[in-house]
Amino acid sequence: MPPSSPQPPAPPLAPRNSVPLPPPLGDAPLRSALDASDNAIVLSNTARRVVYVNGGFTRLFGFGAGEVLGRYLSDVLLGPHSDPGLLGDIRSGLQAQGYFHVETLLYSKSGQPRWVSMMINASDEASGGPGGSITVLTDITLTKMHEVLQKRVLEGMVNELPLTDLMALVCREVERIAPEVTASILAVDEQGLLHPLAAPSLPADICRALDGVPIGPSVGSCGTAAYRGEPVVVTDIATDPLWADYRALFAPSGMRACWSSPISDHRGKVVGTFAFYFREPRGPDALHHRLVDVCLHLCAVAIERHSTRQRIHQLAFFDELTGLPNRAMFRTSAERALAGLHQDSLPGALLFIDLDRFKQVNETQGHAAGDALLCEVANRLTQCLRARDLVGRLAGDEFVLLLSDCATDQAVQAAHRLLEELARPMEISGQAHVCRASIGIAMFPEDGDGIDTLLRHADQAMAQAKSDHLHSLQLFSAEMNRCAQERAAMERALRQALAARSLRLEYQPQVLSSSPATLHGLEALARWQHPDWGMVPPSQFIPVAEEAGLIHELTLWLLDEACGQLAAWRAAGHGIPCVAVNLSGRSFHQAEFAQQVCAALERHGLRPQDLLLEITESVMMDARPVTRANIEALHQKGFKLSLDDFGTGYSSLSYLHRLPISELKLDMAFVRDLTTSSTARALTVSVLSIAHSLGMVVVAEGVETPGQQQWLQAHGCPVMQGYLFGKPMPPGDVADWLRTARGGA
Ligand code: C2E
Ligand code: CA
Ligand code: CA
Repeated sequence: MPPSSPQPPAPPLAPRNSVPLPPPLGDAPLRSALDASDNAIVLSNTARRVVYVNGGFTRLFGFGAGEVLGRYLSDVLLGPHSDPGLLGDIRSGLQAQGYFHVETLLYSKSGQPRWVSMMINASDEASGGPGGSITVLTDITLTKMHEVLQKRVLEGMVNELPLTDLMALVCREVERIAPEVTASILAVDEQGLLHPLAAPSLPADICRALDGVPIGPSVGSCGTAAYRGEPVVVTDIATDPLWADYRALFAPSGMRACWSSPISDHRGKVVGTFAFYFREPRGPDALHHRLVDVCLHLCAVAIERHSTRQRIHQLAFFDELTGLPNRAMFRTSAERALAGLHQDSLPGALLFIDLDRFKQVNETQGHAAGDALLCEVANRLTQCLRARDLVGRLAGDEFVLLLSDCATDQAVQAAHRLLEELARPMEISGQAHVCRASIGIAMFPEDGDGIDTLLRHADQAMAQAKSDHLHSLQLFSAEMNRCAQERAAMERALRQALAARSLRLEYQPQVLSSSPATLHGLEALARWQHPDWGMVPPSQFIPVAEEAGLIHELTLWLLDEACGQLAAWRAAGHGIPCVAVNLSGRSFHQAEFAQQVCAALERHGLRPQDLLLEITESVMMDARPVTRANIEALHQKGFKLSLDDFGTGYSSLSYLHRLPISELKLDMAFVRDLTTSSTARALTVSVLSIAHSLGMVVVAEGVETPGQQQWLQAHGCPVMQGYLFGKPMPPGDVADWLRTARGGA
């Protein structure tokens, strides 16, 4: 607080000839209270000579009262790096305001630097006469270190300062707190090489010379400290053998001693070194130790944070397996490249590459082989690139290339070359492998002026290439886009229809050949009436449901619906033997599928023989353990399986007896040709006899004419289904159909 009245001639610390006054504090309790204080308290008289110091002063600076009394405080406490302007500042401060406050560097008796907060008040009372002053000194060395270092470094981190700037800041602060020190911070990389991060007061050529030096048992102070994992004190560089190879390099800098401490990360791994150089042969003092304690921690946090961020950056933008840019990174770089092409009015090509049958490699040879294949593909793609092209891995076995300044014909040529390059045999886990791929191409700017459109269109072209002919390439076309958009619209609508439960089931009778009025069963067929598109045939929406991952949901719905309907018919007294339902192979990949089928039955009080499960040959051939387990579980429960569309697929007859199949559905293609093709007749006869010998029922599908019916009857086909007997009908019409059929029989 400024005194209320201005003080005449301010009391500077500078000498003036006068005699010390007797200690003004005679009061013993007050004296001992002052002695107990941690602050150093000094009274000076009008001649600025010390007339009193408390016990705190002795504790802080090491001088006993007897060593100080009668002297000028400045003579006692100023040292080599104290602020030379301090006395002048104090003088003018006191003159102007009667008090002065500063944070400054003083020295203890043993020469230890002490940062203090110094408050001087002009005071007549305390010093026992006019012109005296009272000085209170508080040790802020530690606070100063923490405050300055911690706060600044942490702020620097928050403000995203580069690591080298942060480390330079640490060095500079240390050099400010302990001006006799020259600080340096080196990083130690994974290979054990040193890299200067900051040494703002060392000559630049020293830093350059140290960059890349391997740590070792006698590599100066830093290289040795990093190698040993412990601090190394070299009190005299000129003579210490650790410095033999580096003495000459440092000689011009005037550095004579060096104390280096390893910086360790949280796991204890050495990630850097923190060194104090001195211009005279010496070791560190207590303040230096405290400084290093604070700094090592800060440096470790900063260095570790930096490497974590680099790692996160790597993980966020690069594919870990192949090291290629990932989708995010590729998009960003491609956007920039496209902007450049746009500016220069140059064309570009986006190539979307998808490996053929990659899943098989993973499944048959294991994931390690799959990974090795992907890495080799990444290598080959990278080798095919020119400097201005970009490559990335989007996901799984999908890779993309952006070829700059590349017209359509060049893009096609490049794609051919890539296909050839990939197809060169490669060795994967010790086995020769030929990698095939399909490539879709979208051209910039015709097929899209943004990276997302180009990616989508190139993907569509790739899908087209794959479905036309594996190991081929395809240019994007607007027609393709239209199909893809229609498909996407259908997927959306189907999703909604499923959620709203607006799909319906129709039922088609299956009748006994011997007595066409007798039902063998009813096949449930899904129907979708779209509000705008009208009736969408299952041949359109079932594949969409399969690809969009909606088919299992659809299957669960249809099981519930068909079971509910059968229970309702039974309750109404209609004798319907069973309902056949079409199951997708994908449902068999769900571990709980068999369980879900049982649950649907139980909900409606039915038994396994009330359902006939129609599966396709792909399910029969599916070797996945989960599929086999579902089939086995369903069989154990007593469900009957019916093999749909028999004769259209791989028709591996040898599989027939391995699976618990009780019924074959002869595809309508055979039935259609019966009257015209002797081959169809011969095949049908053999199917009927094989089935007979395996104890299977044959259901002939798509029977439309009495001619077909008669032939099938004559050759012993037991069950028929087709428009001749009844079209698929809504459940409400089934009772009528039953009545008419019986009436007609
Ligand atoms: P699918 O299982 O072979 O079903 C028989 C198809 O033949 C049905 O076509 C049926 O309406 C038709 N059909 C029956 N009799 C005759 C006939 O005499 N002449 C002709 N020309 N056709 C006849 P739909 O209902 O269009 O079903 C087509 C395919 O869609 C089905 O073939 C089946 O693979 C699939 N599908 C239908 N509903 C479902 C379902 O609920 N789930 C699953 N996963 N697939 C279904
Ligand atoms: Ca069927
Ligand atoms: Ca069929």
